[in-house]
Amino acid sequence: MEEPGTGNREPRSAPEGEIAEILISAEAIQARVRELAAAISRDYAGKDPLLVGILRGAAFFLADLARALTIPAAIDFMAISSYGAGSTTSGVVRIIKDLEESITNRHVIIVEDIVDTGLTLGYLLSLLRRREPASLEVCALLDKVPRRIEHHRIAYCGFQIPDKFVVGYGLDYHQRHRTLPYVAVVRLSA
Ligand code: IMP
Repeated sequence: MEEPGTGNREPRSAPEGEIAEILISAEAIQARVRELAAAISRDYAGKDPLLVGILRGAAFFLADLARALTIPAAIDFMAISSYGAGSTTSGVVRIIKDLEESITNRHVIIVEDIVDTGLTLGYLLSLLRRREPASLEVCALLDKVPRRIEHHRIAYCGFQIPDKFVVGYGLDYHQRHRTLPYVAVVRLSA
């Protein structure tokens, strides 16, 4: 499908909260999702993994990833809210919706939209480890490497991105732009 404005750039004077530039096209995302799904299908053959999507950001990513798998897998979701101020995270996380499934002795893959400081992921990993899964790995669409405070293994990573606030393909800015099929940089106030 053609993306709007194939020049990939909106006017430089776009106001705060508007799209400044497309960072990863819809086609590039879909191609990378297929590669990640192929790797997971290979690594988890015969293991019947459980994909745990973190709402709301990972909803589209998990849906596309799960449908591209060539092995059987189950899905479940957790919704969390971070106590961080503005666009930063504190790592103190409140569970709004817990898993429906027991993960004890299951092969679990956390499916995240983006790892930024890594604090949220650290919290999730320790929470889920306490439930004694057979294995626990992470699949993240985006990895904002320059912002990392806590380092955790990301077994499956879609794209490493620079320190820019991005939206689209599930990611939002004040609940806006989630439904875009591409990942774009949003204009923040200075
Ligand atoms: P962390 O705890 O700093 O790694 O933050 C992870 C969470 O912050 C993600 O799951 C997102 O909800 C949010 N986040 C971090 N960076 C961005 C961004 O560039 N766009 C949208 N959400 C972001």
